Amino acid sequence: MTHPVRIFRNGPIFDGHRLRIGAFAAFEEGRFTQFGAEENAPQTGIEIDLDGDILSVGYVDLQVNGGGGVMFNANPSVETLQRMSVTHRSLGVTKILPTLISDTAEKTRAAIAAAKEAIETSVPGIFGLHLEGPHLSITCKGAHDAALIRPMEAEDLAELLDAARELPFLKMTVAPESVSEDQVSQLTRAGVLVSLGHSDADFDTCQRYFAAGARCTTHLFNAMSQITNRAPGLAGAAIANGAVSTGLIADGIHVHPEVMRLAWQAKQGPGQIFLVSDAVAVAGTMLSRFELGGRSIQRKEGQLRLTDGTLAGADLDLTRAISVLVNQVGVDLDQALAAATSVPAALCGFPAPGLHAGVTRQNNMIRIRADLSGILPITQPALRRWFARSPALCGSGSPGIANFRGIYGPLVGGKIAHSIKASLRQDCSAHIVCRCWSCAKSADQVIQKMTPE
Ligand SMILES: [Zn+2]
Repeated sequence: MTHPVRIFRNGPIFDGHRLRIGAFAAFEEGRFTQFGAEENAPQTGIEIDLDGDILSVGYVDLQVNGGGGVMFNANPSVETLQRMSVTHRSLGVTKILPTLISDTAEKTRAAIAAAKEAIETSVPGIFGLHLEGPHLSITCKGAHDAALIRPMEAEDLAELLDAARELPFLKMTVAPESVSEDQVSQLTRAGVLVSLGHSDADFDTCQRYFAAGARCTTHLFNAMSQITNRAPGLAGAAIANGAVSTGLIADGIHVHPEVMRLAWQAKQGPGQIFLVSDAVAVAGTMLSRFELGGRSIQRKEGQLRLTDGTLAGADLDLTRAISVLVNQVGVDLDQALAAATSVPAALCGFPAPGLHAGVTRQNNMIRIRADLSGILPITQPALRRWFARSPALCGSGSPGIANFRGIYGPLVGGKIAHSIKASLRQDCSAHIVCRCWSCAKSADQVIQKMTPE
């Protein structure tokens, strides 16, 4: 089977650091070969017209609790991680840190085993594990179950140090209220990325824990001691301490855009702010509710809340977080893209993402819609032009809506497991709505395999 040269052009190209305008990028045998000014693009090969969309290195998401209808906590298994991997890949994430929120010791062991197996069996994108709790502060529990929050005991530490040896990457969110400085030091020495979060600790305490080895904080401003005039809290320590990086849920709901702007301007480096989705089961689906530890969570108007109103995860993907940073906070596009790619990658110790000849795989590149409204399959034909050529396909009865058919899923007993039908607005602005014909399940990730009807 031959793999022809593919030449991407007519859209900005982001290599993890720089946004190149008026450039082409060529891939051969699925690997990047060269880029340059568009007028110097190779004359032979398959040209892919980006139509203004951004060709970018894939996202890195360090806080993913679920997706595709499943929660990692509900069933910490390799099957769950496979589903999360497929779902989040369709949302542009090429490296995923599955996240277990506070749970029992048995569930924690199962999560460690599942992550280990997923990595051994090369489930795409899974590179480690994030344990968010249970060693947190009950005062700042957020949506975590208070009954599961507890101090870190010697046996817990021993198991975690074992997990750090077995997993290529382990991140732990802990609170000084439940973990000692010595435990943080031991975890850090074992290679764990220790992140302070779900904590009411004061500024000086947080600084001591950073000195002990913690070098990250979890979802800045949410479920932590806030900045006040005489007490800068964990939020203040996260911004003031240059050695510390911090995750941010940039949906415009968890943190006010104006507060995000202040934090962005004030953050001391080299630590940086990076984007996380805090995604849950509803990610990549049309679900309106899901369960978390037996409690019902409703999805409404871009928010996920327990019945008492507590925010429980985010109805967010990283493209929308980038859009909020750019359009509501005023961050430059290249910085917002870096906050979802090279910044979290560097924190995890990955080699800097970029376009490296013979190394960077086309499969690890994503295509972000020009208006930052979502992700498209990388080699998707220029839809706006395609619609202009094929107005007759708008035959669903709704003006401006076109139907697609496609196939998705593995072959089961010689039959395709899912076949889908999708609708897409003519201006390409709306999310594609997909339904599986055979099982009636929502399956947004099918767009990867769609062909025009
Ligand atoms: Zn949290």
